[in-house]
Amino acid sequence: MNRPYNFSAGPAAIPEEVLQQAAAEMLDWHGSGMGVMEMSHRGKEFIAIYEQAESDLRALLAVPAHFKILFMQGGGIAENAIVPLNLSRAAAVDFVVTGSWSQKSRKEAQKYAAEVHTAATGEASNFTTLPDPASWQLSRGASYVHICSNETIHGIEFHALPDLKALGSDAPLVVDFSSHVASRPFDWSGVGLAFGGAQKNIGPAGLTIVIVREDLLGHALPACPSAFDYKIVADNQSMYNTPPTWGIYMAGLTFQWLLRQREGAGTEELAGVAAMEARNIAKARLLYDFIDASPFYVNKVAANCRSRMNIPFFLADESRNDAFLAGAKERGLLQLKGHKSVGGMRASIYNAMPLAGVQALVDYMRDFERSAA
Ligand SMILES: *Cc1c(COP(=O)(O)O)cnc(C)c1O
Repeated sequence: MNRPYNFSAGPAAIPEEVLQQAAAEMLDWHGSGMGVMEMSHRGKEFIAIYEQAESDLRALLAVPAHFKILFMQGGGIAENAIVPLNLSRAAAVDFVVTGSWSQKSRKEAQKYAAEVHTAATGEASNFTTLPDPASWQLSRGASYVHICSNETIHGIEFHALPDLKALGSDAPLVVDFSSHVASRPFDWSGVGLAFGGAQKNIGPAGLTIVIVREDLLGHALPACPSAFDYKIVADNQSMYNTPPTWGIYMAGLTFQWLLRQREGAGTEELAGVAAMEARNIAKARLLYDFIDASPFYVNKVAANCRSRMNIPFFLADESRNDAFLAGAKERGLLQLKGHKSVGGMRASIYNAMPLAGVQALVDYMRDFERSAA
């Protein structure tokens, strides 16, 4: 059976091999007589699943030893509160606003941080450009600088993380990497914390990944709930409360799938996240090149910050939107409707989307354009 190509922004497609393995192990994980959802999180079976997932993620993202990996719940939106509760230390925090997600994060931080300062915003361009880091107004002594490294709704991506030291700030970066984690290598050098919900590129909804520099732990505000105090979570190997066991298991299968990926051959062979990056570059180029060459479709994001993962586009004749979506569905191309705040279409092409899926979308878009002429 060929499954349709699923362009959902999230919860999003999961690699078929991962779904098949999970299905095969659903009733009896490795001869234990139990499904993963039925196991104690403190039993040896689940501890093995947890430890493997943690070490695979550390290897995949080349997470340095002085960072803790936490498996939490609450999603990216809960982290908008949990990060300032843990890291703001009752001082100012800086935000770079590049789209809906960083805007939302800033608003939530205002409840907890003593002072929230906007260092830069792309609002004037309707979030189609990334403010040049050289123009950011970073504050002195900020506890951290928050960015969203891939804006899922507006389709904007940082292709390199900003070098805050070069901009005169000693603050650590806090990065919301929910929607492009594991799509490319990640540079930890200026980072204090990165977080992401799993449901875009890692697995099912319900698991939140937090990777935090050890020296930032232990400074939570008194009001911080114990279950959300990173130090307590870290000291208890993410088992202070019951962790999202099924999500951790599914993420673990995805990490192993990622570690198996290869692109190229011989000395040019890339593995893991680097292989995914090569594939993701090719996928994004195919779709953007087609859109840019066509008078019928448009993407409004500046070329230097276009997302490889989330590609919003518009039909020149928006009265054809419903026909476009209905025809796409008939061809097995699902969930292409744009976010309600932006409109138009959006193709989310995370790791689980093969090049063939993007090719099928481009073929359909070409046919639709011809039929509409
Ligand atoms: C999806 C998303 C979130 C929100 O995640 P929830 O799991 O709904 O809380 C936050 N940030 C970014 C960049 C996202 O794409």
